[in-house]
Amino acid sequence: MRDQQWLIDRLDHMWMLLFPDIERKNTVVIRWKGKWKNKFGHIKMLKNKDTEIVVNALLAHEEVPEGMIDATIAHELVHYMHGFQSPHPRLYKHPHAGGIVTRELKRRGFGHVLVVEREFLKNDWYKLHRELTGQKPRSFLQKFFG
Ligand SMILES: [Zn+2]
Repeated sequence: MRDQQWLIDRLDHMWMLLFPDIERKNTVVIRWKGKWKNKFGHIKMLKNKDTEIVVNALLAHEEVPEGMIDATIAHELVHYMHGFQSPHPRLYKHPHAGGIVTRELKRRGFGHVLVVEREFLKNDWYKLHRELTGQKPRSFLQKFFG
């Protein structure tokens, strides 16, 4: 079951295995939140200087490939390592400048997860989102990540 503890373990495992060179310089918390259609997650520095990673709660449903959660966590960890919403020195002016996130994810072996993400977004997400939220279809923004 993809509960809160499962999500915490997922973050810890991914960090240990795939981002071992990135120092955890502050407390990083992660939680399920929201039912957004246009974003899978975001990262935010809280007032107490902890960093919070949020993953769209709809991704907890078992029909969603686990790769979607990995892709979301990895994406936010790249922001963290680049110094966005984290104590690391900021390496770029903008968090998504010139494909820096995608490049870093590919470099760390997340190419296959990016494919899962693209296919899921194209083929399944909007229908599943409607089913899970009971919302009617409407136009969507082009931005999927916070
Ligand atoms: Zn982002």
